[in-house]
Amino acid sequence: MKYSLIKILPLFLGGILFSQTPQDSIQFKHIADEMLVNGTAYEGLRDLTQNIGHRLSGSEAYEKATDWAVQKLKEAGADKVWKEDVMVPVWVRGKESLQIKASDGEWKTLRMTSLGNSEGSNGKDVEAEIIFVKNKADFDKLPDNAIKGKIVFFNYAFNQKFISTGQAYGDAGIYRRSAASWAGKRGAKAVIIRSLSSALDDVPHTGMMTYDKDDTARIPAVAIGPKSSDELEKALQTLKITAKLNSNCGMKGEKLSHSVIGEITGNKDQSVIVAGGHLDSWDVGEGAQDDGAGIVQSIEILRTFKSLGLNNNHTLRVVCFANEENGVRGGRQYAKNVKEKNEKHIFAVESDGGGFTPRGFGLVMTPDKRKQVQSWRALFLPYGVHNFEYQYAGTDIEPLEVLGVPLAELSPDSQRYFDIHHSEEDTFDKVNRRELLLGAAVMGQLIYMVDKNW
Ligand SMILES: [Zn+2]
Repeated sequence: MKYSLIKILPLFLGGILFSQTPQDSIQFKHIADEMLVNGTAYEGLRDLTQNIGHRLSGSEAYEKATDWAVQKLKEAGADKVWKEDVMVPVWVRGKESLQIKASDGEWKTLRMTSLGNSEGSNGKDVEAEIIFVKNKADFDKLPDNAIKGKIVFFNYAFNQKFISTGQAYGDAGIYRRSAASWAGKRGAKAVIIRSLSSALDDVPHTGMMTYDKDDTARIPAVAIGPKSSDELEKALQTLKITAKLNSNCGMKGEKLSHSVIGEITGNKDQSVIVAGGHLDSWDVGEGAQDDGAGIVQSIEILRTFKSLGLNNNHTLRVVCFANEENGVRGGRQYAKNVKEKNEKHIFAVESDGGGFTPRGFGLVMTPDKRKQVQSWRALFLPYGVHNFEYQYAGTDIEPLEVLGVPLAELSPDSQRYFDIHHSEEDTFDKVNRRELLLGAAVMGQLIYMVDKNW
């Protein structure tokens, strides 16, 4: 009794209060049923992660992944599939190591990862005393002579009080992106940062860093796990500690690569609705949650529209973007081409927060459109999706904002994403089939509403 009331009440409210037709909730159920019963996204993700694995832009594995995406989009029933040219940076990691030693002790190896796009030490040892700072304000207080010739260690942790871990990631992200530039400008030899992670384990996480254009010293930047970070901070309270860093990473120019696109032509007009994710991943783990999940979810939507014969009014286009992780070249090139070809886009939605249980959508659009999408909330409640308050969209589709395209991003439960994001832990076994498909289902449902109403 209780169960059926919970099930029916939101449909009832949806139908009466927000003037959606009962037909909408029936179509919502068709979409979810089709995916949960016949969905191929999970097996597709297994194939991508187990047979290709991680796939950084510019690598051979990434090019293999583009062929894989072409094949999957064809199998899903796309009318047209193509590769879109995009120049991508080529960053290569190579061998790397980090050791530390207290003045009277032995060398001890720490688990570490170079940050993406960082320059390395060209295979030579960089050896220097470590100085610890908690945050940028503490760093700014240090005199130059305390920094010069040293290796600066920033131990800025995720704020565990934030309920959305994305907020903690946003708060701590500046240390990964900019610490090398801050320290390099003041004569440091290298930086070590605490990994951007909600976990308290010892897994190091990579991710993109950048140098400022005017940086003359492009010093190496590496991350260590949260546990090593806390131990190192503690040891540095009483001991003088030396680090020895050796790495071979660096930028190796640019290369022609591709985003992969597939679509079902619109029945009413050729204006475009985009569903997408990014096909590239970091060169550690398998790129399963980030963002293999978003790719297979987007392809699943196309497959479902085709197999249910939903006869989309507008063109439904899946974009598997290149190079989100260390350049966003795929997203920028796509928006550039849209502008040049004057292709009308009425909506774009991305999934790049992992294939976890969906909770809502971030929305970046005019207040009117936003209100309209929020008025559909009751239709989504039976699927556990309730939060339409965030105002952000995926990195790959963001460049479409200036063209006036309304944007959304799937907002899944965020508690576990940053435990594994950009690390060796981002593997297929962390993805749950039902959570993944439910995410695809609610994206498909949102697209169904947009296609019908806009
Ligand atoms: Zn991602």
